[in-house]
Amino acid sequence: MRTISVENFGGPEVLQVRNVPDLKPEPDQLLIRLHTAGVNPVDTYIRSGSYAKLPSLPYTPGMDGAGVVQAAGSQVRGYRKGQRVYLSGSLTGTYAEQCICLPTQIHPLPPQVSFEDGACLGIPYATASYALFHRGNAKRGQSVLIHGATGGVGLAAVQLARRAGLRVFATGGSETGRALLRSQGAEHVFDHNQPGYHQSVLESTSGAGVDVILEMLANVNLGRNLPMLAHGGCVVVVGSRGAVQIQPRDLMLREADIRGAMILHAPPGVLARIHSDLLSGLTEGSLKPVVRAVFPLEQAALATEMLMQPGAAGKIVLSVGAQAEGN
Ligand code: NAP
Repeated sequence: MRTISVENFGGPEVLQVRNVPDLKPEPDQLLIRLHTAGVNPVDTYIRSGSYAKLPSLPYTPGMDGAGVVQAAGSQVRGYRKGQRVYLSGSLTGTYAEQCICLPTQIHPLPPQVSFEDGACLGIPYATASYALFHRGNAKRGQSVLIHGATGGVGLAAVQLARRAGLRVFATGGSETGRALLRSQGAEHVFDHNQPGYHQSVLESTSGAGVDVILEMLANVNLGRNLPMLAHGGCVVVVGSRGAVQIQPRDLMLREADIRGAMILHAPPGVLARIHSDLLSGLTEGSLKPVVRAVFPLEQAALATEMLMQPGAAGKIVLSVGAQAEGN
């Protein structure tokens, strides 16, 4: 089978296609024939060698994907060959035609959801749900500012927040991205590259502030988030790429909180409930990933480069082959 193999940490050029022997699951594992893989920022942090926890080399990148069950180990119950699934992690990496998973890492993919859409779910939708409802404790009728809403996690958060009856305020850095946010039903949309937009956010709440902020770039925004919070409000830090200075008095005045969210630390029971809720939303149609671009496996480097450029407007997905089976 074809796989991306990283033999040294480094830039996009270390993502090389290799032919390797087919994988075989252990008795408690499943073999998945992948159709698509989701490309996430964390894949690039790991590839560059800058992430806190690194795999041993060589390795295959990727945590998200969608495909069909190709084989199940003798101890695995409840899955049949050809069953459509999406992944939230794997043991061997998803930038490949096959991967090995534990049963807890696969989830049913409803027939009306494409494999491209299935590749957008594992990290982005689960993170958005965990950050909004478990760390941010957002409740129907409250307001949420999704700060960096045009990417994978942000668009998932917009859909989940709307579905839960929250008032959605969202930011994007490009006109295309902001138009997408409006089409997704965000009530107020702002340009996070425009000086003074923080004041416009406050004005659009008549000065009351927002209840929850989901923050995708805390090193840039955290200090300016705090004055946009309502009394008792909360910033949930989802993404950060460096250090930041804050004014603690802004927290005191509002009796506000700053919390982190890390999907890889979500308790198993919470994750199971999140994925079950995602299945409901996908089935009823209230959740629908936005795919911005699909690249072939050979262009994984290009896909990760596009991901890290400004101007997000949906998810970037790899098509990893295996087109014929299980559609
Ligand atoms: P993505 O698809 O690459 O999207 C990045 C987002 O950041 C885009 O919406 C982008 O907007 C926005 N952004 C750029 N400059 C910004 C600014 N000055 N202020 C606010 N937002 C800005 O990435 P993603 O998958 O959505 O992930 C978002 C972040 O969360 C990444 O840092 C990622 O590593 C992190 N993350 C964390 C977890 C966790 O468990 N904690 C899980 C998944 C992702 P424009 O392009 O429109 O400017």
